[in-house]
Amino acid sequence: MENQLRPGRGEREVIVVGGSAAGLFTAASVARGGRRVRVLESKPQFEPAARTLIVTDHFRSQMGVSARESIINEIRRFELFTDGRSAQVALRKPDLIIERSLLIPALAREAQQAGARLSFDTRFLGIGPNASGLRVEIETNGKREELHADNVVGADGAASRVARASGWPPIETVPLVQAIVRLPKDCPPDTTRVWFVPDDTPYFYWLIPESAERAAVGVIGENGVQTKRCFERFLEKKHMEPLEWQGARIPVYRGWVPVHRQIGNGEVYLVGDAAAQVKVSTVGGIVTGFRGALGVAQALLQDGKSPELGALRRELGTHWLIRRALHHFQQKDYSQLVDLLDASTRQSLGEINRDESARLLWNVVRRQPRLVLLGLRGLLMGKAERCIRV
Ligand SMILES: Cc1cc2nc3c(=O)[nH]c(=O)nc-3n(C[C@H](O)[C@H](O)[C@H](O)COP(=O)(O)OP(=O)(O)OC[C@H]3O[C@@H](n4cnc5c(N)ncnc54)[C@H](O)[C@@H]3O)c2cc1C
Repeated sequence: MENQLRPGRGEREVIVVGGSAAGLFTAASVARGGRRVRVLESKPQFEPAARTLIVTDHFRSQMGVSARESIINEIRRFELFTDGRSAQVALRKPDLIIERSLLIPALAREAQQAGARLSFDTRFLGIGPNASGLRVEIETNGKREELHADNVVGADGAASRVARASGWPPIETVPLVQAIVRLPKDCPPDTTRVWFVPDDTPYFYWLIPESAERAAVGVIGENGVQTKRCFERFLEKKHMEPLEWQGARIPVYRGWVPVHRQIGNGEVYLVGDAAAQVKVSTVGGIVTGFRGALGVAQALLQDGKSPELGALRRELGTHWLIRRALHHFQQKDYSQLVDLLDASTRQSLGEINRDESARLLWNVVRRQPRLVLLGLRGLLMGKAERCIRV
């Protein structure tokens, strides 16, 4: 990656707001390209909350050696369930289970090794133009200060203050809740389970094993209270007892968020959840957030040019199309979907991962053209529902 990025000409620091996945990845990439970088993180120290995450094999090609230490398990099979039906998909390249509380410190070490400076207990408050670039207001260790920079990168999550202060409109979010449970006896530790229950959620429930002993079970919904109620009922029905809880609001991608804005003579960029860089079909934001971070690093180091951002936009657009097709599915549609997954379609699903969604979609519909009709019906149902609401 270092070879793709040539040093920029800016003398002044790049300020990255937010020391989590996307921010630290941006900081490392920009620092490797020869720019001075400072990361501002509002938390007093690096003790990121535990969070079990599943990513595709794509993660390995993005990460340095030390971040790969955050991989705690590998998934070789998916089992899909709906209304008494099921289908199994064997993965040619295993998915990876990563633990966020290991990933973030590893990314921080990589950013520091690349030369980035990390400042904790430092909260971004606001931004404005100064004579030559940007004036950044912060509160650090309880005191207000002003910093000056040419470039600021907002990596401060779904409720990004950088985005609001710079004039981006707010992005829609949905609740995601996850419980750590003992791995059920009938579930192998290398198998992820997904349940489609459209009466509960237009998204899905999942179980991802962390080890032979523990798994994360979770759901994404649309309404916080209702999602929690459905989740509790689901856990009870499956005889799963929560040992720990994890959760937050996740951005919903509804079209490309332009990642760049000019303020006076300075430039502001957004990466990760702050720019809704989340695959809205499965609501995964790690790999796509890193891609957004790499894209912004390229833009900062290559006079605004970034091939990665164009590719990411196409990728997120395909996931948005898939989500729109699925979002209004009723039980009979999911039943038909699972019935249509014959051996050849399941082979495509196992061979091509969801971070290559256009190739995956094309291969799946080529092998099972009836899925096109089902998808079109989903898109039309969504359109009809929007017309009724209007
Ligand atoms: C329970 C759960 C499970 C998930 N599972 C998966 C999964 O399996 N696979 C997957 O790919 N994705 C998953 N996601 C989504 C994924 O975790 C996010 O997309 C990703 O972590 C976003 O990273 P980020 O760096 O963009 O933002 P964040 O992780 O939200 O980081 C923002 C950082 O900015 C800091 N900050 C905020 N405001 C300020 C400020 N004013 N000043 C300074 N610092 C500030 C915060 O303290 C934080 O450190 C899951 C999310 C949740 C909640």
